[in-house]
Amino acid sequence: MNAPNASGWRPEMGSAEASAPATASGDRALMLEEPLIFELGRPGTCGVDIDEPALEPLPALGKFLRKQAPALPGLSEPETVRHYTRLSRQNYAIDLGPFPLGSCTMKHNPRLNEKVARLPGFADVHPLAPQQTVEGALEVIGQLSHWLIELTGMHGVAMSPKAGAHGELCGVLCIKAALEARGEDRKVMLVPESAHGTNPATAAFAGFSIENIPATPDGRVDLAALEARLGPDVAGVMITNPNTCGLFERDMKKIADAVHAAGGYVYCDGANFNAIVGKVRPGDLGIDAMHINLHKTFSTPHGGGGPGSGPVVLSEALSPFGPLPFVTRTADGSVRLVEEENAGEEHPQAFGRMAAFHGQMGMFTRALTYILSHGADGLKQVAEDAVLNANYVLRSLDSELDAPFGHAGPCMHEALFSDAGLAEGFSTLDIAKGLIDEGFHPMTVYFPLVVHGAMLVEPTETESKAGLDRFINSLRSLARRAKAGDESLKSAPHFAPRRRLDETQAARKPVLAWKGGAA
Ligand SMILES: *Cc1c(COP(=O)(O)O)cnc(C)c1O
Repeated sequence: MNAPNASGWRPEMGSAEASAPATASGDRALMLEEPLIFELGRPGTCGVDIDEPALEPLPALGKFLRKQAPALPGLSEPETVRHYTRLSRQNYAIDLGPFPLGSCTMKHNPRLNEKVARLPGFADVHPLAPQQTVEGALEVIGQLSHWLIELTGMHGVAMSPKAGAHGELCGVLCIKAALEARGEDRKVMLVPESAHGTNPATAAFAGFSIENIPATPDGRVDLAALEARLGPDVAGVMITNPNTCGLFERDMKKIADAVHAAGGYVYCDGANFNAIVGKVRPGDLGIDAMHINLHKTFSTPHGGGGPGSGPVVLSEALSPFGPLPFVTRTADGSVRLVEEENAGEEHPQAFGRMAAFHGQMGMFTRALTYILSHGADGLKQVAEDAVLNANYVLRSLDSELDAPFGHAGPCMHEALFSDAGLAEGFSTLDIAKGLIDEGFHPMTVYFPLVVHGAMLVEPTETESKAGLDRFINSLRSLARRAKAGDESLKSAPHFAPRRRLDETQAARKPVLAWKGGAA
């Protein structure tokens, strides 16, 4: 056990090597421990000099005054800067190395995007600014809408949803509104077994009951089973394409035709659009509604790095029900923004709103910059390179790790492996934790649920061949150790700031607030 450091913090530093001597500080070279800011602070210390207030508070406001000073940590400015910088160094980021998280599309965020998003005219717009003062921002929304409609072959787009899951809700509410307008009360939403958890959650939230459609042995929706279930009680289907097994749903058009013939609508989860952008237009496949995760396909930071944005493109059949503000295609092919002022005449069936304002402006400027700097040919190449990189990973490792659908042909933008073939007692978790020691963020694990011990690797197009080779080399080594029964892998990570944590305990009994007292 390491000695507590100067502030009384007792680090449980990663390394299990008994031979490594403890340091007096608790730090290990550049691996720096960091207590909570409250444990660091000293009462009475302040980073800036603030004069005592000269004015007495107004008597009427006196009752709002605090009885006790707030429990703020007292630190000088340099201490504060060091605290947050130390914490940031314990984090992993896309700017440090690859994020091979399947189903997340964590690609490089071009600096040009950031530069444009920071232009004061975009960065400082206020949502309540009068419309005539933000014409440029509205133009960005219009141009981005145009591209999203073009790239997807759809009719209209709701730009306001804040993320993929919010977009799903928007699309499913459009389906609900369309059914209501027809005077039909269809209660069932069909969702494939391999669906992202947000799909059934969204449908349930919107009041539908969920029924699963099985997958075929090659990892795709079972068309015959789907057709057999269609009927007057089915509102629609929610299908991810490419799906979460990393495969293109080749029967998408047949699925859509069957669902339409039975009076239902087709929702497509477009989170994996990165694999087909510029190559396939979902509208041509008969899709009625699809969200686009701007923060995946069109770069822009996501996860802990920023907000998401999930515009929803709609077919001609569903467009009339899109929420306000809404962007539709006009007869001359241009796009038109509909807001409350002109909705009465132009868009009377809107189901409502998803958000108070137009959406995530910072994401819109980044996504449009990304689209314009790539151009139509560049976007097509994004999809091609993403798919090429994933197949390179798949074929480099399918002799080391079980690839459950490897026999089904090339994958799309993500490569799926399973834990089959690891030595008795070894699991996907051991491989994921081992990757941390290798200096990589782990891939997505245990998803999709249809594959036992799934490992879903999405390299994205922005990784170089040299970078992919390093990752493949590490994964190959870990697979060999897990097959050979190397016990040390079971206690990985050995070199990270923290060892293997009790994730169940962390989820069930999270410690969210410091309770005070000496550390
Ligand atoms: C990421 C993702 C979602 C949810 O998107 P958020 O922006 O995280 O809400 C839904 N479906 C799939 C397949 C995804 O990969």
